Amino acid sequence: MTSSSSTVVTRFAPSPTGSLHIGGARTALFNYLYAKGRNGKFLLRVEDTDRERSTDEAVKAIFDGLSWLELFADEEPVFQFARADRHREVVQTLVETGHAYRDYTSAEETGRLRDEAKAARRAFESPWRDRDPGEGDPAQPHVVRFRRPLPGTVVVSDEVQGEVTWANSDLDDLVLLRTDGAPTYNLAVVVDDHDMGVTHVIRGDDHLNNAARQSLIYDALGWARPSFAHIPLIHGPDGAKLSKRHGAQAVHEYAEMGYLPEAMRNYLARLGWAHGDDELFSDEQAQGWFDLDGVGKAPARLDFDKLAHVNAHWMRLANDDRLAKQVLDVHLARGHVLHEEDEARLLQAMPFVKDRAKTVLELADQTGFVLRRRPLAIYEKALPLLNGEAGERIGRLRDRLKLFASWDVFALEAELKVFAEEEAVGFGKIGPAVRAALSGDGVSPDIARTLAALGRDESIGRLDDALQQTK
Ligand code: GLU
Repeated sequence: MTSSSSTVVTRFAPSPTGSLHIGGARTALFNYLYAKGRNGKFLLRVEDTDRERSTDEAVKAIFDGLSWLELFADEEPVFQFARADRHREVVQTLVETGHAYRDYTSAEETGRLRDEAKAARRAFESPWRDRDPGEGDPAQPHVVRFRRPLPGTVVVSDEVQGEVTWANSDLDDLVLLRTDGAPTYNLAVVVDDHDMGVTHVIRGDDHLNNAARQSLIYDALGWARPSFAHIPLIHGPDGAKLSKRHGAQAVHEYAEMGYLPEAMRNYLARLGWAHGDDELFSDEQAQGWFDLDGVGKAPARLDFDKLAHVNAHWMRLANDDRLAKQVLDVHLARGHVLHEEDEARLLQAMPFVKDRAKTVLELADQTGFVLRRRPLAIYEKALPLLNGEAGERIGRLRDRLKLFASWDVFALEAELKVFAEEEAVGFGKIGPAVRAALSGDGVSPDIARTLAALGRDESIGRLDDALQQTK
């Protein structure tokens, strides 16, 4: 599994205990960008050692979330639990070299000693740390503990946090194997990162203390430590730790709200990392620019307005065909009855509507008019708009448009201006009635765009239908 030493290898190592949160997604993205920008490899490891909390559903949620974001790993994912034998083998090596020891103290006794140590304000030490191992019987229940070097310090040169130092005496001899032989988290991470050839560990700063413990294990094994970069967590818009009350946290919720994956990548890249004032950038730019120097030490704040702005930008650039399909799916999910030609109609309308919406859901809201059927029923509220003089005016507009040769949005706009001038009324007088006639409910873009979105035959047909309903 080991790669050559010059290749950058990063990994995302989520614990499958729930949905993929945006904090996790950002960690995955940073690791991805760092590797891709350096011709390196981005790997995925599912940390499923905690058998009680890990679920297949959560594994699926992680895979789904990452593939929605298009953050694909360069190799098959590694499942940590499946590597338990390898973890135990490494612990055996540590025992043999004196860096770990078997601790036969009962759980009860350990609890008592721990309380005692706490009361005396000193670190807990197992009595077995300094005992002759020959006094114990490995057939009896025991845990295996790491024997941290005492006295001494451990220094981690973190790429984001700078140099951080711990006194080893402040740490404890952490358990590497539990009584049932299960490897513990810190041990498994070190063995896996080493075996996967990971050169850079980029993760949340809630793991900073683990970096100290893990570094000591690397040193004891004579393995080179990876570079560490501990990034500040994401906070809510109010600056408090991100929680449910701030709104959506899971990646799939953002997908359901109609954000595009490329917009999410762009936005998440800016959460805690900056490249000058650049707000909108492509994947290629992000890969080229991303560096740990640009990661700030203060927690980034989620900003939904900014996200909407970034999403609107990527919607404008998105392929119409793709957007039409997504909008169709939203209408379907909303239980609307659809017709075979609806995708083609949406596709035709897309260039005239997509720059008005910030999300695909908004786009669906704003394209209801496209999917309506003839004869178009005018909503009751809009009917009075068509009466009297306004109705007559719609008739004149219809006649004029029938003769209008070019059905191009700019030409239509100019033509409408001329029409308003000839009618000697402001556009405000014409607009609401025509929109009601064309859409049924008045929810549509401006008239020229609505006409362009509907196409010639449908537009004229709808105006005819409306005229039937005027008084
Ligand atoms: N599995 C850990 C978590 O989900 C991450 C461990 C790591 O990145 O080293 O928080």
